[in-house]
Amino acid sequence: MKKTATAKKTAAAEKAPAAKRTAAKKAPTAKRTAAVTKAAAGKKTPALRKAVVVKEAASVAEPAGKAAPVRKTAVAPPSGESPTALVRRARRINRELAEVYPYAHPELDFENPFQLLVATVLSAQTTDLRVNQTTPALFARYPTPEDLAAANPEEVEEILRPCGFFRAKTRSVIGLSKALVETFGGEVPGRLEELVTLPGVGRKTAFVVLGNAFGRPGITVDTHFQRLVRRWRWTDETDPDKIEAAVGALFPKSDWTDLSHHVIWHGRRICHARKPACGACPIAPLCPAYGEGETDPEKAKKLLKYEKGGFPGQRLKPPQAYLDAGGRPAPPLGAA
Ligand code: SF4
Repeated sequence: MKKTATAKKTAAAEKAPAAKRTAAKKAPTAKRTAAVTKAAAGKKTPALRKAVVVKEAASVAEPAGKAAPVRKTAVAPPSGESPTALVRRARRINRELAEVYPYAHPELDFENPFQLLVATVLSAQTTDLRVNQTTPALFARYPTPEDLAAANPEEVEEILRPCGFFRAKTRSVIGLSKALVETFGGEVPGRLEELVTLPGVGRKTAFVVLGNAFGRPGITVDTHFQRLVRRWRWTDETDPDKIEAAVGALFPKSDWTDLSHHVIWHGRRICHARKPACGACPIAPLCPAYGEGETDPEKAKKLLKYEKGGFPGQRLKPPQAYLDAGGRPAPPLGAA
């Protein structure tokens, strides 16, 4: 498939954050510990303490070239921490994570917005690795929305079988390809309100596409993001849209996409759902949930995954920055 202008933007969006991330300064551990102890021990916040109100861009993406509409969201710490201390701690965690994962990137292989959109839809209920092992055959056979819209569903089902729920996923990707062709001239739209009209595309998928294929800031509230922001007491909301708004209020909009990568990468490598590797966690001094997982450094080290544990990553074609940092590509489908 020919590389479009949007595909070039995609490549730029993947490269851009690395330099910015390496600029983050690391504070001495002792200092960090003191800051955390203070924050965690925290004075009780009076109920009437005035909330810090942070300007937040509206969740609805703006038309190209227009300024984002702005709404105001109050920072509301779930614990005794003050709103200002919460903002500082949250931003500090993000800076630390930027140092831990300077090569963080979306973990789905893609070369253009269409591929990213399809891969994100396929990633429901399975790993990015499995999607990455499946999509090369899919995109080789159906490189454009027009090709996939006209596909024989049984042939697509056969290709998608390794992803699980392959019949429903076949319906979704053919359906969304038809909608792209019929409504958007075969192009993936770059606006949230248009993306969510596509079958099988919700806000989470739309933000992944906007953030990584169009360079528009977005917060991806997946299962890792939800778990980690609760452990860090950034919010006690449980609804993904409310989490998105609460966390968005803690950070400048320009940080949202990289923040999402950092949090999700940390959730996949160190801060696991069942056994977080607290004893090997570089942000332990900033984490109110330290001790929820394994604290013995040697035992915790054995829990690390992907490049942190010396294993291959999820992408068959990871960005160069990942390879330069010692990361390894994932094996193709069927390889040992
Ligand atoms: S200290 Fe433990 S719970 Fe906190 S972020 Fe690290 S691994 Fe997760």
